[in-house]
Amino acid sequence: MTPPSLPPTVAAHVPTGVLIDGAWRPASTGRTFEVADPATTETLFDVADGGEQDALDALTAAHDAFPQWRATAPRVRAELLRAVFDTLTARTEDIAALVTAEGGKPLAESRAEVAYGADYVRWYSEQAVRFEGLARRAPSGANHQLVLRRPVGPALLITPWNFPIAMIARKVAPALAAGCTVVIKPAQLTPLTTAYVAEIIREELEARDLPTGVINVVPSASARTISGPLLADPRLRKLSFTGSTEVGAALLKASADNILRTSMELGGNAPFLVFEDADIPAAVQGAVQAKMRNAGQTCVAANRFLVHASVAEEFTAGLTEAFDKLVVGHGADEGTTVGPLIESSAVDRVEEVVAEAVDAGARVRIGGDRPNRPGYFYAPTVLDRVSADLRVITEETFGPVAPVVTFGSEDEGVALANSTPFGLVAYAYTRDIARVMRLAESVETGMLGVNRGLVSDASAPFGGVKSSGLGREGGEAGIEEYLDSVYVAI
Ligand code: NAD
Repeated sequence: MTPPSLPPTVAAHVPTGVLIDGAWRPASTGRTFEVADPATTETLFDVADGGEQDALDALTAAHDAFPQWRATAPRVRAELLRAVFDTLTARTEDIAALVTAEGGKPLAESRAEVAYGADYVRWYSEQAVRFEGLARRAPSGANHQLVLRRPVGPALLITPWNFPIAMIARKVAPALAAGCTVVIKPAQLTPLTTAYVAEIIREELEARDLPTGVINVVPSASARTISGPLLADPRLRKLSFTGSTEVGAALLKASADNILRTSMELGGNAPFLVFEDADIPAAVQGAVQAKMRNAGQTCVAANRFLVHASVAEEFTAGLTEAFDKLVVGHGADEGTTVGPLIESSAVDRVEEVVAEAVDAGARVRIGGDRPNRPGYFYAPTVLDRVSADLRVITEETFGPVAPVVTFGSEDEGVALANSTPFGLVAYAYTRDIARVMRLAESVETGMLGVNRGLVSDASAPFGGVKSSGLGREGGEAGIEEYLDSVYVAI
């Protein structure tokens, strides 16, 4: 049966097994788990519920394929990735339909995610032939120094549900470009797109007679069953994780005994600073973009709107008007600009933090409730008169809620911006270039968007400081995460 919200042409090509050494097969557990459309709650597919044996088989395949893959000419790896980019681009509509079906985001956003994810594959197809080494005479003059680069080895890639193509593309492309082989543990809520993309890579490997164990996928309803045995296995050399700070911290601990190389893209709590000299209509437009992509469920979602008191009413009124124009609905419906949240508990949590803010005196300018329809929806919401110690400010809301807090001076705004343990991205609207440079020094963040509501780019280093993570994805830095240096003294 074709799932209701998925075109039959796509539904027929979604792998639902575990991928090990080039073959999709049922899970060794004999179990499956359901993947549902969050806009309707209807089941889309039953997916193999991988267990420990599948995880270890996948690592064996990745380990066995590694010697041949690392010896492959960089140009061959580059051309494989370029072919994958071409296929992803050519199949944008199909992949976007899948992203929308399992994750809920509007089709226009899903198409943008496919383009964004594919861009990482193109960027690393270009980087695959450009690793930098070093050759020089030692300062003492006694010898020469060579620094060579080599792949770290088999890598475990664990991804979140909110960007099912972009998050895996950001990992698998640099890993393969560097010469690493991979085991992927996709998110339980959205494993379909990742499986579809993995199949494209598998086909390209097979067509070129390259080792098919380069890419392995183990979906599971019990993430720890997969990560536990793999992190304890000395054949694994690298963990790249994107997800919540809580799980990231647990995985860092679990990686310690094996001294694994780790990359951690963790939670955010982005401040969106609007200064008194800002272009307010532009700030409103940027705020909608920074807040509302994927209904607020992005790690770079603006979580706290910190606005100079002198422009707070103009900004808040503008944002309220802009939210009023948003269209909530099924992501596949023409005209929808805001889809559902991912699951029922996500709506409960948003409802809870909004109620807590309202109880404490916040004013609801728009929204503040669940639309009357099936699926996991929450209305786009603007709150003002919000006090900075409330959970809607101190925690990552991951929903379509924009709380506005006012400040009086730049120092006060920066202190508010820095008042959480997170530091992934910050946004600032100001016309003062000297202030921009001060903010670049003073705001504790891995990324700063200046007069922009969007910073992500495959060619730029994406990542956070403090509890938002370790390491970078994208740009020249992204491939470093998968490379070791070997210093040769001659
Ligand atoms: P999550 O941490 O619950 O899950 C992420 C992945 O880890 C999933 O594949 C999940 O199955 C797996 N997982 C969960 N518990 C595990 C355990 N004990 N051991 C091993 N694996 C485990 O996060 P989520 O809800 O999928 O995603 C939302 C979070 O991800 C937010 O905090 C968001 O900010 C963050 N995120 C960060 C970035 C970034 O680049 N920094 C990007 C997207 C999302």
